[in-house]
Formats: sequence, C-alpha cells, structure tokens
Amino acid sequence: MTNSVNIPKNLLPEDGRFGSGPSKIRPEQVAALDAGATTLLGTSHRQTPVRQLVGSIREGLASFFHVPDGYEIALGNGGASCFWEIACATLITRQAAFGAYGSFSAKFAASAAAAPFLEDPVVFKGETGTYRLPERTDGVDTYCWAHNETSTGVAAPVRRVEGSLDQGAITLVDGTSAAGALPVDVSQTDAYYFSPQKAFGSDGGLWVAVLSPAAIERAARVESNAGLPGVCRWIPPFLSLTKALENSRKDQTLNTPAVATLIMMENQVRWLNDNGGMDWAAARCAKSASVLYSWAERSDYAHPFVTDEGARSHSVVTIDLDDAIPASEVVAALRENGIVDTSGYRKLGRNQLRVGVFPSVEPADVAALTQCIDYVVEHL
Ligand SMILES: *Cc1c(COP(=O)(O)O)cnc(C)c1O
Repeated sequence: MTNSVNIPKNLLPEDGRFGSGPSKIRPEQVAALDAGATTLLGTSHRQTPVRQLVGSIREGLASFFHVPDGYEIALGNGGASCFWEIACATLITRQAAFGAYGSFSAKFAASAAAAPFLEDPVVFKGETGTYRLPERTDGVDTYCWAHNETSTGVAAPVRRVEGSLDQGAITLVDGTSAAGALPVDVSQTDAYYFSPQKAFGSDGGLWVAVLSPAAIERAARVESNAGLPGVCRWIPPFLSLTKALENSRKDQTLNTPAVATLIMMENQVRWLNDNGGMDWAAARCAKSASVLYSWAERSDYAHPFVTDEGARSHSVVTIDLDDAIPASEVVAALRENGIVDTSGYRKLGRNQLRVGVFPSVEPADVAALTQCIDYVVEHL
C-alpha cells in the first residue's frame, strides 16, 4: 500500500463483513453457540438434543421453501461441492446437460465429464456476466444449472426446461448463494441444493438439498442398478443419496457433522422464518442490492458488471471500476478500515468489487459501504 486511508468513524458500517461466503454470521448465532455450550457442543449427534437441532433445521427449511407434498430435506457433510459428486454417482442415469456461465456452474459440468460411467455432458456455455440455461436435448436425463453464479453475480431463472418432464428428466439446481436470499419455486426442481455459509450465515462443510419424489426415486433406481452385472458404477457410501436421506429422515447425518455449524444454521433458519420467511428475506436482499446497483449507476467511476438488469443478483453484487482506480487498492484500503472480503472473484480477473448482501447484512450497512468506497476513491 502506498498511502493509507482513514475512513471517518461516522461513515463506517456497523459490521464490515461483506463476503460472498463465508459470509457475515450474526452475533445472535454466536450467542446460540454459547447457549448450547454444554448441552449441544461436545455431545453426540446421535442423541436427542442434536437430533432436535437437525429436526428443527429440516422443518424450518421445509416451511421456508414451501415445499410441495412429498419433497424432503436431506443433508450431509461435504458442502455443495460434495453434492455435485453425489449427483454424478446417484442421480445422473446416463447423460446430463448443463448451463455453464461461471466458475461454479462449470465445476459441476466438469465433474460429470470426469465420471467414467457417464456419457460426456452436453454443455450450454454462456459468456461471463450472463446466464445460459440448458436446452432440451434428446437422450438427456438430468438438467443442471446454478440459480446464482457466485463468481460473476448473475442470477438465472429457475424453471424446468420445456419438455424435460416428458422425457423423464430431472432438474438439479445449485442454490448455494441463492437459497435464503432469492425467491424460488422449488417445485421447478428435483434437487435444490446449497451450503450453509452463504445466505444461511453459518459455517461451511454441510450440503443441504430439497429433494423431489422423482429425485428420491431416481437415486434409489440408480443405486440398485449399480450392482447389476454389466453395470460398471462405483457408489461409495459417502456419495449415496439414499443413505444420506435415510439418515436425514432420522434427523442424523451419515457421519459426524460439525455441531457448531448446525447450531448457527438452526438459529438462522428460525430467524428468517420468524421475520417473514422467503418473502421477507428476498425483499431485504433486493433492497440491499438496489442500494449498490443504483449507487454504481450514479457513480462516474463504478458500473454494475451485469448489463441485463433482470440477471443482476440480489445476493452477490458485482461492480466494475474504471481502470484508473485499481480495485485491489480499494479493497485493501477498505480492509484496513475493517471492511472485508469485497474483492472480485479471483479467476474472473476483472477490476471489480464483489459484495455479498445476504439477509444477515443490514441494508443500512450496505449504504454505509457505498459512502466508504467513495471516500476511499477520493483519498487514494
Ligand atoms: C460457494 C458455492 C459452491 C461451493 O460450495 P462449497 O460449500 O464450498 O462446496 C457451489 N456453488 C455455488 C453457486 C457457490 O456459490
């Protein structure tokens, strides 16, 4: 750093955490850890207290997502990245089609391409800063894309590919930085899956999936066929969706979970539901996002990266800066003042700020952030 910038105290946000994951954890979630310090932490996940916690998460999420009849909430260890491998092992029958328009949506497609027992996936590639949904393709049994591409700040629609139900295909949507922040109709999906360290403001390490009866039935069929002569597919127990679901139905996980992550997640799901659930969360995130987008549109040095207003994410906001203002210096100056994790996605390689505006973040703090950025840019 050349010269350091001291942002006046009265401009600073109350909380300076704006990461896109791990994201801000509310103090009440940390207090919940303290409240469970001797009754939950350090106790068995197979006994009633922790199972009640998992039960509360599952019920709370079913209510938050207004799940249709027959849909179930499953969870396990390993995060959304693990769910990609679970899907390759137990949900894709033969061939999947992907929308790929950024790092995260492309990673799942790469996993499917690497699975030796699956046919090469059909990949519908979109330019970064846009989205592209998979299109109906003969022979495809699974359609996949991401609701919110966290690397670029692009939100994509969640509705089934036309004709996909007629061909018996299922739909898997990565909701990792969207779930809890963006509105969604999960009946348009067979698995809407995510990790808790984004809108649910918990720690990483878990995956959670809202599963349809069709997904549950698909996994059971793929897993029972895998043992037949001539069918070459290895399904490690860790990647068995059926086993994960059997455990989830008992409010457990296949192997030991981080109890702290469950405590913070449970607190957040209850907080979201108590405040008005998905509608409330979506409105709060939309408000925070619009504070940033409208500031950038008024600014003479900043611009929203995503040009299609309908595709601008309300949970992860990306803002390009003019080349004359190096984003890395702005990010570093903000960090010196306690405002952290505002850098763009490294591999995108743009002169960009990226701001997580999940429900835990106060819209007033987002407004304060814009003032702090202006202050830093004036004083660099
Ligand atoms: C963060 C993220 C992931 C990866 O989540 P992990 O918990 O690290 O596995 C996957 N998809 C999207 C859209 C994400 O934002």
